[in-house]
Amino acid sequence: MQINGSTQLIGFFGSTYKTSKMYAMYNAAIKALGLNCIYIPFCVVDLQKAVEGVRNLGVAAIGVTIPYKVEIIKYLDELDSNAARIGAVNVVINRDGRLLGCNTDGEGAIQALKEKVPVTGRDVCVLGAGGAARAIAFALCDEGCNVTILNRTERAAQDLAQDIGENARAGGFAMLPEVLGDDTIIINTTPVGMSGSGQERLSLVPANLLKPGMAVMDIVTNPRETTLIADAVGKGCAVVYGYRMLLWQGVNKFELYTGVKPPVAIMEQAMEDSAKAG
Ligand code: NAP
Repeated sequence: MQINGSTQLIGFFGSTYKTSKMYAMYNAAIKALGLNCIYIPFCVVDLQKAVEGVRNLGVAAIGVTIPYKVEIIKYLDELDSNAARIGAVNVVINRDGRLLGCNTDGEGAIQALKEKVPVTGRDVCVLGAGGAARAIAFALCDEGCNVTILNRTERAAQDLAQDIGENARAGGFAMLPEVLGDDTIIINTTPVGMSGSGQERLSLVPANLLKPGMAVMDIVTNPRETTLIADAVGKGCAVVYGYRMLLWQGVNKFELYTGVKPPVAIMEQAMEDSAKAG
């Protein structure tokens, strides 16, 4: 690409960019479309100063990840209604100096699910009640699903269920056997099963509770095949991998960043190539 005086900068704020390969996906899309912009990840030390930088340098947009998705809100001018109800932001758009926060996680999860199973009106059990769970639970609610949120800290599950309203109920993991029906969709939104978590081999769902009519999604991306997913495959459930949500939330972000229809196949290929490169 040719950098010139009109090149727009899209940044990414996390505490380490070394674990994210999303820049490969976005820059491949930018190149394919011939857009005059560049995507660069930043390892942010002081978030307030970094957001001041966005304003003062005229950065066009920012992706946001752990640990800044909630903290960044206090430095923004506005949230869209979805980010406001979730209480977390994964995209910031600079609109003539006014910073607007949005969140594409929930929509990305629904798109990943819909690649494999019908979603509308289904019974869904969400494990976890953190930022990703909130985004996904609200999106499920928009699809008319009946959502049960189970969390280690039950209070957080109850708060989320209350925020969602009448289509949601809450509890602890001990409720799993009574919550799971023959065709429930289960979504793990906790880091249990994630590489480096110290719980790589664990799953919150005992394998004997899984049935062939269920769909099981694990939003953990590393490894792709978590113990929950492996157990679900073994029991004949439909499975949805976390990297599919990562792809779709990124596709949706790209559209917000650029205002251009994303080249999904190119983004998907770049994601696969960078995963293979390790
Ligand atoms: P978060 O806000 O910190 O929430 C973490 C949730 O996991 C909380 O509900 C927490 O329960 C629960 N939890 C943590 N450790 C646990 C354990 N040992 N046993 C049981 N529950 C535990 O984090 P987040 O932003 O929601 O992200 C959660 C995971 O989703 C991360 O692994 C992240 O990488 C992944 N993620 C994936 C995508 C994707 O596109 N695939 C997108 C976003 C996030 P308590 O309330 O009890 O602490």
